[in-house]
Amino acid sequence: MANLPSDVLALGTRRNVMREIFEYGKLLAQKVGAENVFDYSLGNPSVAPPASVNQTIRDVLDGAEGDSIHAYTSAQGDLPNRELLSASLNRRFGENSTADDLYFTMGAAAALTCCFHALTCPGDEYVIPAPYFTEYQVFIAGAGGKVVESKPDPKTFQPDLVSFEAAFSPQTKGVVINSPNNPSGVVYSKETLAQLTDIMRQKAAEYGHPIYLISDEPYREIVFDGFSVPWLPAFYDNTLVCYSYSKSLSLPGERIGYVFVSPKMEDNRLIYAAVCGAGRKLGYVNAPALFQRVAALCDGQTADIAVYQENRNLLYSSLTQMGFTCVEPGGTFYLLIKSMEADSVAFCERAREFCLLLAPADSFSCPGYARIAFCVPTERIRASLPAFQKLADSYQS
Ligand code: PLP
Repeated sequence: MANLPSDVLALGTRRNVMREIFEYGKLLAQKVGAENVFDYSLGNPSVAPPASVNQTIRDVLDGAEGDSIHAYTSAQGDLPNRELLSASLNRRFGENSTADDLYFTMGAAAALTCCFHALTCPGDEYVIPAPYFTEYQVFIAGAGGKVVESKPDPKTFQPDLVSFEAAFSPQTKGVVINSPNNPSGVVYSKETLAQLTDIMRQKAAEYGHPIYLISDEPYREIVFDGFSVPWLPAFYDNTLVCYSYSKSLSLPGERIGYVFVSPKMEDNRLIYAAVCGAGRKLGYVNAPALFQRVAALCDGQTADIAVYQENRNLLYSSLTQMGFTCVEPGGTFYLLIKSMEADSVAFCERAREFCLLLAPADSFSCPGYARIAFCVPTERIRASLPAFQKLADSYQS
């Protein structure tokens, strides 16, 4: 029998919960008809990329670069693309970056793995406010580090500051923040971020070593009326931003994003070199060439996020009227709904009886809740409301 590393084998054979539900949904659709299945399992954007993205792809292919656009690029991304992106970030966020602060990656997932591999020494820990994206555990363990969770405020789902501070130790290498947040949709307020980063500065001074802030921002632009996402490098010098165009431009299959190493970071050149080294160690070679160009030319644009806002409004108001307790999302396309029984897995199983496919939020370190990914056409949400009503009613009888 093959002698294989058990952790890797387990990752390859045990499917992620959301994927499992998604596959189940496909089977169910064959039995009862796709129109009767309400699949809220995956965060796959339902809105088309902006027309400008497809036009840019055509222009790039038809333009001077033509077929040569498919060649290898510099490992960190071609200089003209990084220059364009740096100028865009400087314009949008009042940054003072250069092309050499940017490293193109295959989405946020690769940006995160590059950061964790760049920073982690044996025994290092990362503090992460719950709830959080399940794959952080895999990425951090893969780099040889350990996750230490802190709790959310149970009412607002902003991080609980007492629990956050208690999670630090001399082994703390970094903090991972994801706002707007998957799975809660909560946008961390300016006050929260100021308090979190104050604690980080105090702890770094106490331990006598830097503590890095890794800001995972695939939902940066998907925010609703009244919410805004502060630029974290303005709060904390030792910040690495992991960005992705998967959600903002609806390009998840094209695998494009970047790491931004703040120019104000201590040892900025060393950290940047370590990010490049991590990309090499992981065999990433370079991020997709065509989409580096497209991302650089389209940075700051978004797909039609008004659709997500309409979905949020419809779902949140309907579910609360039905008696569900929900966390109100300020952004993303996720909504947490409180399980109507102690076991959220059993709750999601009961939802399946009404052809509602929800993901138990336990794997996001949020037991007692289910996640609804509402990146679906608005009419599907409307069509699913009677099923939600039946689910609520089933707990009354
Ligand atoms: N981080 C968070 C919070 C996510 O929700 C996701 C994807 O859903 C990712 C990272 C990975 O995204 P990407 O497609 O850019 O790799």
